[in-house]
Amino acid sequence: MPNGLTIVLIEDEPAIRRFLKASVGKDDVVWHECESGSEGLKVISKVNPDLVLLDLGLPDQNGLDVLKLLREWSSVPVMVLTARGQERDKVQSLDGGADDYITKPFSVNELWARVRVVMRRVKRGQTAERAVFESKGLVLDFEAHRVSVRGAEVRLTPIEYRLLALLARNAGKVLTHKTILAEVWGSGYEDATHALRVHMGALRAKIEPDASHPQFIRTETGVGYRFLDE
Ligand code: CA
Repeated sequence: MPNGLTIVLIEDEPAIRRFLKASVGKDDVVWHECESGSEGLKVISKVNPDLVLLDLGLPDQNGLDVLKLLREWSSVPVMVLTARGQERDKVQSLDGGADDYITKPFSVNELWARVRVVMRRVKRGQTAERAVFESKGLVLDFEAHRVSVRGAEVRLTPIEYRLLALLARNAGKVLTHKTILAEVWGSGYEDATHALRVHMGALRAKIEPDASHPQFIRTETGVGYRFLDE
């Protein structure tokens, strides 16, 4: 449960609004609800929230357009609420500047856990970049370009290292195939998803104790990859 946050929910379904509102403590969160995209944008500009929960299927406009308008003037963290199977919406949300998405139907526990990860990452982004990243026994030294897992050094190729460093810097966040290819391979390689899969497989074989149950890098089917930050 997030504490002391101002949250704007943009969602046209009353049942979902009720169920989300009931899940936050009245004293802990300043809660604003909007039924349409235009109302949502107005409220966000007025209350300057810490977080926006944005449904994509809104009566007056597509949530992706709301996100696009919002990103012209605000960097507020945005969690998108999507329907199951809409991989394209997820990719476009992330490429359009959403911080994460959650698929309906979701549990409130899952939602708030994901929100906590987003808020932690935002906070971390405001402090100086860490020289060493550490998670579940994996240590990545950004200055020395060294990686170890449970104390044993792992030798990575330059591409594998750049892949891991990018995902670790964005721990908790799904990065789309397009974003990863642009960052690691550079422009002109946005469609090289096969190469990405091959190098990801090689990276996982080196860092994951059990590549069929990854504990560091999770595949988000049809969307991209996420370094698990939990
Ligand atoms: Ca809706």
